[in-house]
Amino acid sequence: MQVIFPILLIIFFVGIIFLLRKKKIIFQPDVSVEKKLLQHYVPFYQKLNEADKAEFLAQVQLFLSKVRITGIDTLVEDIDRVFVAAGSVIPVFAHKNWEYSNIEEVLIYPGSFNNNFQLTGEERNILGMVGDGALQNQMILSQQDLRNGFLHDYNALNTVIHEFVHLIDKMDGAIDGIPELLLPQKLIKFWMQIMEEETEAIKQGHSEINPYGATKKAEFLAVVSEYYFKLPELLQLNHPELFSYLDLMFKGKKE
Ligand SMILES: [Zn+2]
Repeated sequence: MQVIFPILLIIFFVGIIFLLRKKKIIFQPDVSVEKKLLQHYVPFYQKLNEADKAEFLAQVQLFLSKVRITGIDTLVEDIDRVFVAAGSVIPVFAHKNWEYSNIEEVLIYPGSFNNNFQLTGEERNILGMVGDGALQNQMILSQQDLRNGFLHDYNALNTVIHEFVHLIDKMDGAIDGIPELLLPQKLIKFWMQIMEEETEAIKQGHSEINPYGATKKAEFLAVVSEYYFKLPELLQLNHPELFSYLDLMFKGKKE
């Protein structure tokens, strides 16, 4: 008995450690911290009425209860968790009962990385990505760019919104710049036409939209979505038609 008891204790603790390593370890900030961070740094949240703020906060908590956020060579802080969750909620907030079917974990790298996920050396120009293959259901974000997306309000850049728009685009089966879950079928051909025209304008140097948007249709959608959520007035002024389609997608006025 004297021998068995310590052995059982050891087995018990080893089991607990194994389970914690194996199972999702979800860290969730305190709700008052979440509220404070959203109110301080997330303009989308600041502009909501009280009822919608409560709903937004509930969505943030739901996301953080389901998706693990893991730091790779960096310490993930509350501000990072709240920014990732806010980035997931913002594009689909108007779509009640939206649920991402394709995300289980978000990996946070300290900064930009290259195609081999290296944090040093040449060509570290990736700020975020939606995983495929072995990285299915994972997203990778540069912590620096995740934070800058919310801390700097003067530019049209927000990496986490960019990546969640890719996830939304992916949910219909293809990352092709056509978010079929957000856009009525009959409008798809008009949306494709707008993408063509605006991409051409970027290539010709006649547009202030981030040139990365002209590299692929999927990137166009993600880049102009960042613009839509960061500087909506400017986008509406400079690209009224493009703005109206994004407004239709993100406000949920699906016909
Ligand atoms: Zn992208």
